[in-house]
Amino acid sequence: METRIQKAIEILSRSRLTVALTGAGISVESGIPPFRGPGSLWDKIDPMEFAHIDAFMKNPARVWEVLIGSMKTILDTARPNKGHLALAELEKRRLLATVITQNVDSLHQKAGSRDVIEFHGTFAKLTCLGCGHRTSSADITLTTLPPRCHCGGVYRPDCVFFGESIPLSALTRAQEFVSQCEVMLVVGTSATVQPAAMMPILAKQNNARIIEINPTPTPLTATSDLFLQGNAGPILTRLTEAIAIPAGP
Ligand code: NAD
Ligand code: ZN
Repeated sequence: METRIQKAIEILSRSRLTVALTGAGISVESGIPPFRGPGSLWDKIDPMEFAHIDAFMKNPARVWEVLIGSMKTILDTARPNKGHLALAELEKRRLLATVITQNVDSLHQKAGSRDVIEFHGTFAKLTCLGCGHRTSSADITLTTLPPRCHCGGVYRPDCVFFGESIPLSALTRAQEFVSQCEVMLVVGTSATVQPAAMMPILAKQNNARIIEINPTPTPLTATSDLFLQGNAGPILTRLTEAIAIPAGP
C-alpha cells in the first residue's frame, strides 16, 4: 500500500490537469448511506421502485416518504468530511481542476470546492411540477407529503432520477475535462451507474492515468492504473498532505 501511495503522490505532483470523479462513497464518512455496498439504501429498498422517475410521477407521496424524505433529513445536517476537504484543498492549490460528482448532497461545495460538476443534479433545490417555482430543500418541512408549492403543485428534487437524462451542461463540461485530463482520481463510486461510469474509461482511452480510491474493488479496478484500497477520508488527507511537502534538495 505504501508504495502505491508514493506512486500516487508522484503521479499527482506531475499531472498538468487532474480531475476527480466522486460517488456516494466519499460521503459515507459524513454519515450518508451509499446506494450499494454494506449499510446501503438498496439493501432495504428497491432502487428501480423508488428512484425511477416513473415511480415518482405515479406516487410522489410514497417516494418522498421512503426515499427523498429520509435523504433530506440526513442531508439537512450532514457536514463535509476530510475527503471533501482534501479535494477542496487540492483545488485551492491548483492541483485539481474540477470535481465531477454523482452526489446530490452539496458537500463538496460546503467543503470549499468551487468547480463542481453535479452530474446527477442536486438535492439542495426543489422545483414545483405545477408552476416551475424553485425553493431550497432546507426550507420545506415533511409534515405533509408530498411537499407542495403555493400553487398546489408537487415539489420534486432537482436531482436526476433513474430514467432521466444527465443535465446537458454537466455532461458537456464533464466530457471536456475527461478528454483533456492527465489524471482522474476516482473516489467512492461503485462505477456501475451510467453514463458516469464511462467517464474513467473515456479518460483512460485519452491516455489519462486512473487512480481509484475505494474500500472494495469495483468493475473499474481492473482498468485503474492504481487502486488505493481504503476509505476516502484518510487516503485523500494523506495524499494532500504529502503533496504539500516541498521536494527535498
Ligand atoms: P454507490 O452507492 O453505488 O457506491 C458507493 C461506493 O462507495 C461503493 O463502491 C463502496 O465500496 C464505496 N465506499 C463506501 N465507503 C467508502 C468510503 N469511506 N470511502 C470511499 N469509498 C467508499 O455510489 P455511486 O457509484 O455514487 O452511485 C450511486 C448513485 O446514487 C449516484 O448516482 C448518486 O447520485 C446517488 N447517491 C448519492 C448520495 C449522496 O449524494 N451522498 C448517496 C447515495 C446515493
Ligand atoms: Zn407551483
